[in-house]
Amino acid sequence: MSTLDKILSAGRRARDASGALLGQNWGKSGWKASGRALAAGEVPQRIIPGPPPSAAGDEESLDVWGFKDTGFSIDARGVVKLTGTRYELCGEELPNLVPWIEDVMAIQIEPRDVHESAYPVKIPEPIRNAAFQDAIRTFLAEDQLTDAPQIRLRHGHGHTQEEMYAIKYGQVKRVPDLVVYPSEEEHVIRMVELAKEHGCCLIPYGGGTNVTDALKCPADEKRTIVSVDMRRMNRVLWIDPANRIACIQSGAVGRHIAKQLADYGFTMGHEPDSIEFSTLGGWIATHASGMKKNKYGNIEDIVQDFNAVTSDGLLARHDINPREAVGADPRRFMFGSEGNLGIITQAIVKLFPLPEVQRYGSVLFPDFRSGVAFMYDLQQEGTPPASVRLVDNIQFQFSMALKPAKTGIAVQKSRLEKLFVTKVKGFDPEKMVACTLVFEGPDAEVSNQEDTVYRLATRHGGMKAGGENGRKGYQLTFGIAYIRDFVMKHYVIAESFETSVPWSKAIQLCDNVKRRVNKEHAAAVLPGRPFITCRVTQVYQTGVCIYFYLAFSYKGVKDPSHAFAQIELAARDEILQSGGSLSHHHGVGKLRKKFLPQIMSDAALSWNARTKQAVDPDNIFGVRNQQMADEMSFDVPVAPAANSKTDSDRAANSTAAKAKTAVKAKAMRKPAAKKTTSKAPARKNPARKKASPKSSPAN
Ligand SMILES: Cc1cc2nc3c(=O)[nH]c(=O)nc-3n(C[C@H](O)[C@H](O)[C@H](O)COP(=O)(O)OP(=O)(O)OC[C@H]3O[C@@H](n4cnc5c(N)ncnc54)[C@H](O)[C@@H]3O)c2cc1C
Repeated sequence: MSTLDKILSAGRRARDASGALLGQNWGKSGWKASGRALAAGEVPQRIIPGPPPSAAGDEESLDVWGFKDTGFSIDARGVVKLTGTRYELCGEELPNLVPWIEDVMAIQIEPRDVHESAYPVKIPEPIRNAAFQDAIRTFLAEDQLTDAPQIRLRHGHGHTQEEMYAIKYGQVKRVPDLVVYPSEEEHVIRMVELAKEHGCCLIPYGGGTNVTDALKCPADEKRTIVSVDMRRMNRVLWIDPANRIACIQSGAVGRHIAKQLADYGFTMGHEPDSIEFSTLGGWIATHASGMKKNKYGNIEDIVQDFNAVTSDGLLARHDINPREAVGADPRRFMFGSEGNLGIITQAIVKLFPLPEVQRYGSVLFPDFRSGVAFMYDLQQEGTPPASVRLVDNIQFQFSMALKPAKTGIAVQKSRLEKLFVTKVKGFDPEKMVACTLVFEGPDAEVSNQEDTVYRLATRHGGMKAGGENGRKGYQLTFGIAYIRDFVMKHYVIAESFETSVPWSKAIQLCDNVKRRVNKEHAAAVLPGRPFITCRVTQVYQTGVCIYFYLAFSYKGVKDPSHAFAQIELAARDEILQSGGSLSHHHGVGKLRKKFLPQIMSDAALSWNARTKQAVDPDNIFGVRNQQMADEMSFDVPVAPAANSKTDSDRAANSTAAKAKTAVKAKAMRKPAAKKTTSKAPARKNPARKKASPKSSPAN
């Protein structure tokens, strides 16, 4: 059972207990949403839950992903294990993993050959602003601010490969100078006022899980950079059971939100794979998406309202109503604002009753195409279950390689199953793929969905593979998040990236990206073969979200992180050329900002830049994500064009990209700007044509 499953079933038990406690129309699915009770005025008052669950024993690692007590290790035999007890995989011997990786990537992994981490690499000295620090001490306690080097380092990065490589093997140019922990909205308001008065730069910090360099500090920022860590603003302030909404502080982490709402029979239904560590504020600021969005929606569907402290003051509303037409709503700008515009302090979210039943499912398909065809029909003809995911053949094999060692009867059973699938059903092990499903809702609705799923699966040659395999597939999600930092020690560098794309272009996009990665890997003469695999993680009426994993061996490679960035940028370029979006849910940050001119018109970019200039003229929120702030302070490698081979081609592309940045910087510059150091000439960007007119999803 996963941590979340445990939370939800404990929640169901607690809900019944709280029903008895609250004594008002509480039943098996939370407060009984009875119209009669509502009309009679018998609705429960707002509930004020207690403090969030204790985080004692949940210490997080500073140099790698996840909880400190959990991590992959390898013994002298090459057998891999996940330490700790948090996940089902923990403690199991995984003898097939390394041999499988070696085979797929055409490399050798020698257990004793470890790239020793130099964490923490040299941490820059803080730039102090004594007047600001003295002023915030008048309302913050001594334990609400720190300039401890490793804490500052942790607040200056998320989880991109480039950042995780840099803190262990590279160098870090700039990190926050001070970390503060406000515990109420008033602290944030006063902090912003003081930052304006004393000339500081503020960067909001949620869980630090972003994968877009969104927390990376601009290298040339001369002001004191203050990381505003929201972890102490972590309470569910109230739950309104009758109207199914809750008000939650923005620093609350997903796993605590899930637990507290489940105690009262509710869920907000937002379950990103990072739910254990990411926060409500971070979700809004990055435009996040959870695995069960089919049933509950993406973050923008779930969040009804929020407060945000900006340079201009507090964005807030007096009432919260189901839908309004009140003109342009400035708070919409905060979705995807990535720390550029202000600090979200609390949000009101929709609630759903905990599902009456939750069941898993899985289906095998002969190949990726038939799997996509099935998903298309499911989306068009039925109501897709809460989650439906399709992994390609490599990812399917990967999940097999992660299976614990079998003994006794289990060996025989597994052999027979394999024989049945390959010999009787005729599936090719090198082509077959798997689809995993989570059904949630009332029993009748779930049964109905199951009927539709398995009927449509048969139409596409699918074979039912059981609920247990489905459950295990989802179970792996949280465990395998630890694998990237583990393989990095063994000279394998890895990263995931995602896109959304119309149905009609989905299969082609996957093929194109895989082909391009292989081509770039060969051109760069890197060791072995690249690991490039994808899965379809979300379905929409109009298309899908596709998630890629990319890895390669960096043994003997001079600048692995740079080599990786080049291939990843090429892959992103291929995604855009194949009709995909710049991002489905990870966002832009600094990693993808150079692509913005390719996807937005001049006017659209200018609106963003001028909004930032108008609402934050002193650039207090100076994290410089996207192209909202002034000029970029450091170079991000630029993807070579699809067929450019020579160095001069690459240089030309790089110059063009710098020029694009300069154009944007100009749109943004204040009349009295102190610093304008653009080196490249400002000129119109021909690639901009792509942005309009909008191409039809059907072409
Ligand atoms: C293993 C793994 C799995 C992931 N799975 C998913 C997934 O399934 N779906 C998904 O959408 N993403 C996923 N992500 C990406 C990441 O978890 C999300 O982007 C998440 O929303 C970031 O939240 P955070 O609290 O960690 O924000 P941070 O990383 O701390 O910050 C991200 C950005 O938001 C800003 N910010 C943070 N808090 C606030 C605030 N209160 N007010 C204003 N700005 C703020 C920061 O300044 C920064 O620019 C995953 C990442 C990892 C490493």
